[in-house]
Amino acid sequence: MKAVLLEAFGGPENLHYSDHPDPKPGRGEALVRVRACALNHLDLFIRDGIPAYKIGLPHILGCDIAGEVLAYGTEAQGPKPGSRVVVCPGRSCGDCVYCWRGEDSRCKDYGIIGAQAGPGGYAELIVVPARNLFPTPAGMTDEAAASFPLTFLTAWHMLITLGGLRAGQDVLVLGAGSGVGVAGLQIAAAAGARVVAASTSAEKLDAAKKLGARELIHSPPEDLLRRAIKLTGGKGFDLVFEHVGPAVFDKALKALAPGGALITCGSTTGPVVQLDMRYVFSRELRILGAKMGSLAEFSEVVRLVSNGTLKPVVDATFPLEEARRAHEYLGSRKQFGKVVLKI
Ligand SMILES: [Zn+2]
Repeated sequence: MKAVLLEAFGGPENLHYSDHPDPKPGRGEALVRVRACALNHLDLFIRDGIPAYKIGLPHILGCDIAGEVLAYGTEAQGPKPGSRVVVCPGRSCGDCVYCWRGEDSRCKDYGIIGAQAGPGGYAELIVVPARNLFPTPAGMTDEAAASFPLTFLTAWHMLITLGGLRAGQDVLVLGAGSGVGVAGLQIAAAAGARVVAASTSAEKLDAAKKLGARELIHSPPEDLLRRAIKLTGGKGFDLVFEHVGPAVFDKALKALAPGGALITCGSTTGPVVQLDMRYVFSRELRILGAKMGSLAEFSEVVRLVSNGTLKPVVDATFPLEEARRAHEYLGSRKQFGKVVLKI
């Protein structure tokens, strides 16, 4: 098969479009012909050599995959061969206390396909656990289908499962133009929250409004808190959806209402934040970390994408052989929604 191999850690020049042996499905696994694979910032972090991911080289990146199931290994079943499928990106052992409870991402063997859990979707073929296959929503392109798994699963886990979001609550979505931001604001709006979207890009905020944001904050981080407090009539937010890190963390925490929760799934501006403990105890704030989500949560996300409640947003597509260019584009942070490789 053709695949894009990461041959050394560093810049996009380390991605090589090459021939690679076809994978074979083992016990419980399915062989999938990849038609589209969406990029995530995680791909860029792994490519750069982030120490948290111990990955052998050469490696095939790509966590968000849509295509057709071709065949199954032993003791595997799922949609019949030829069916269009979308792949849940998380892989867990299936047989530990966390997996039994449906808390897949807490499993010690949990990994993301294309990251620490084996080769990903920058390739014509991939082998994945058969139980990770879900039917592609009817009438949806492969590019759109590849654009929702990782971000919508993460955002669902953050807002619904961990945040316990209820109708009428005030939710602040930071970095609203990113893949996970787009997912977060749609899920919060669909759950009946009053969503405020924040971004430093006016263009991205226009698009956020069309996806359900009631109010917009277009301001540099210094001004974020003042605007946020004003928009909630001085009360503060019930939930803050966060993935930016040090550039906004302190202001995001102070923008919470008493008893509110800041839920974070990433820290794109650096790993270390300052925490003013006085705010945390005096206002009974909660800080919740989120990592991906479970197969059960993914099935809910697929259902809501299938019935049109949640809409994947594709910003740009590139052919597989232009993965380098796609990385450069994602790195420029100009996109609204997902950058997708067509295979
Ligand atoms: Zn497990």
